Amino acid sequence: MIAIHTYAGVIVDVRASSVDRIFHYLIPTSLPKIQVGHRVLVPFGNRRLEGYVLEFTDITDIDETKIKSIIKLLDERPMLTKEQIQVARWMANRYLSCLSQALQCFLPVGSRYGKERVRAKQHLVASIKDSGMVFELIQALPKNANKQRSVLTVLAEKSPLSANELCNLTGATYQTLRALKAKGYIELANTTIWRDPGIITRNERDYKLNPKQLEAYLAIKEEMMGTHKPILLHGVTGSGKTEVYLKAIRDALAQRKQVIMLVPEIALTSQTISRFTNQFPNQVAVIHSGLSEGERFDQWQRISSGELPIVIGARSGIFAPVQTIGLIVLDEEHETTYKQEEGSLKYHTRQVAIELGRIHQAVVILGSATPSLDSYHKAIRGNYRLVEIPDRVVDRPLPKISLVDMRQEFHKGNRSMFSQELTDYLDRVLTRNEQAIIFLNRRGFSSFVLCRECGHVIECRNCQVSLTYHQSDKYLHCHYCSAKEALPSSCPKCASKFLRQFGSGTQQVEQFIRENFPKARSTRLDTDTTSRKGAHHRLLEEFRSKRSNVLIGTQMIAKGLDFPDVTLVGVLSADLSLNFPDFRASERTFQLLTQVSGRAGRDKKKGHVIIQCYDPQHYALQAVANYDYLGLYGQEISFRRQLNYPPFGELIRVLIQGENQSAQEYGVVLHSFFSEQLPDHEIYGPSPAPISRIKGRYRWHILIKTADDIKDVLRVIPRAPKSLSVTIDVEPLFLL
Ligand code: ADP
Ligand code: ZN
Ligand code: ZN
Repeated sequence: MIAIHTYAGVIVDVRASSVDRIFHYLIPTSLPKIQVGHRVLVPFGNRRLEGYVLEFTDITDIDETKIKSIIKLLDERPMLTKEQIQVARWMANRYLSCLSQALQCFLPVGSRYGKERVRAKQHLVASIKDSGMVFELIQALPKNANKQRSVLTVLAEKSPLSANELCNLTGATYQTLRALKAKGYIELANTTIWRDPGIITRNERDYKLNPKQLEAYLAIKEEMMGTHKPILLHGVTGSGKTEVYLKAIRDALAQRKQVIMLVPEIALTSQTISRFTNQFPNQVAVIHSGLSEGERFDQWQRISSGELPIVIGARSGIFAPVQTIGLIVLDEEHETTYKQEEGSLKYHTRQVAIELGRIHQAVVILGSATPSLDSYHKAIRGNYRLVEIPDRVVDRPLPKISLVDMRQEFHKGNRSMFSQELTDYLDRVLTRNEQAIIFLNRRGFSSFVLCRECGHVIECRNCQVSLTYHQSDKYLHCHYCSAKEALPSSCPKCASKFLRQFGSGTQQVEQFIRENFPKARSTRLDTDTTSRKGAHHRLLEEFRSKRSNVLIGTQMIAKGLDFPDVTLVGVLSADLSLNFPDFRASERTFQLLTQVSGRAGRDKKKGHVIIQCYDPQHYALQAVANYDYLGLYGQEISFRRQLNYPPFGELIRVLIQGENQSAQEYGVVLHSFFSEQLPDHEIYGPSPAPISRIKGRYRWHILIKTADDIKDVLRVIPRAPKSLSVTIDVEPLFLL
């Protein structure tokens, strides 16, 4: 939209709710090219501020003599598309944030405050003009032209080469290069060198879709041609969903549209990424938190110009600067990493994707083996189109899953961390030269220190969470505030000497396996072993190349991995996550255990899964063992309906953090405000949050269940004392 209007509606880049609205500025005649989304410099009070053009108008209620003009455009091209502005408006409204903050999500780092240094650098690059002639040219050089000779010799090997590097290698100067240029031997040019985000491409096979995959693909194609309804692709683990995405992406590219492919965690997906780069060489941009500012900026530029039409990213990939979107894929749509939990703009990527897709008339595919209850419910009600792939590719059977009751093991006298069944199976797998994955349900939880006399659990002094014992430094660590304490010699409560590390962390499992299975060579993957850059990839390669045969890990190994020789998955303490204080505990446990089970038997060899638990009758565990998604769905949905939990109405959480008494007092004020404003609503609290203290700050919360849009009420809650922080989460995924 080119301006033929008189005024521009501009939002200034200041995060304060008092200026979070559109201000009108006169468009000077010197700026005929101004467009919606352009970054501009405007006078604001007695300052000059950056802002973004959001709209044009011919009418304003500001006095004509007082209205100020835009000073200048700050970039040639607009930074935001009008679709992005529309989504940002939707986000600000839905998640109760400032519009300028929502807009900020879409901007590249480095665009603020003229941080130009992150822009890609121009480099002087030298290249041979006629590579067929290079040896003749070297011969023809005067005898004493040693520098020129070495330059040509190096370029004969590798051309083009940056002038800097060339000089370093040969001891030549720029003057030498210019002399060679003058003779017409070489060319010198300024070229942009993009920083490499480190995409690894491995050779992968291409497949012809099997009939079930084809059916799913055709349904997607129909939506891409037709009504653009979002699709819930429910396909069991190993059903070949990625292959279906690839086909749909090819179609979108053929329509000259761009594609956003979202994955829960980019670090876990190098395998998937390599399948994409293989099929679409030089067309894939990757955005993830491991990129440097410069790398990120370069990717942003190349997406924005349309050079790289496919964007693969985690959560923030949804904000990539694509111009016309044809397809958005959210792989593993149920994953909680899609929810932004930090900061004051707590959005859910799935909802943002649906909105962005709607505006672009692009199809959104939500893919999962274990769809979120919310999405499945929408599919059943007809908001999404449900597409199912019920079988694995080439009719490979799903692995058999057995539940082992650890109480019985205990009665039989087995006090070790492995049941007899798991021990026997692991032995067999190792003897056959196959591989196993041993999965621990949760770090933190499984290695707390407990007094066997009085049951006291050692907790952090600042946070109400149990401390975790780390074998590596023999200290107790808090995973919230990073406090570190020595292991006490006796119980702080009853002085008993019988303190013991309860359950087991990954390190203990590693040790146990080393001591009990001589054939085992293990690789451990957890936050400790993967903290160094590149460690994650290196450790997975160790397992893939079969230098190790047992992979031990936490959540990190639950999903996405595809190793053909893994025939056994063992799950230790499956029910830990069932007892989590959260209404979604069963849903999450089901998803996690189904995902991890799906790592077994993915190739020709049959897989087996052994889940150790204390309550094998629990419906979530039964549903896992029987591959009964609908069974789980039925149980959960009726429980949610009874208690008015999502997807029936909305749950809104107001979290108050700060000094204990004032937090509680403010909570009481809020409660009576809500009771008055929202009669007939269920309002709970103020009550201490399940984690009642973090880093010395007390945490209280109020929960509201509502079937209505109550944003107008939430926007005008009574002001809190300055010492407290108050955050509102309209779609909380965790209630900790
Ligand atoms: P999902 O994402 O549904 O768990 P994947 O897309 O990872 O499944 O596919 C599982 C495996 O099956 C992969 O190794 C993939 O290369 C292979 N595969 C996919 N489609 C086919 C096909 N049509 N025929 C044979 N193998 C296939
Ligand atoms: Zn004690
Ligand atoms: Zn702490």
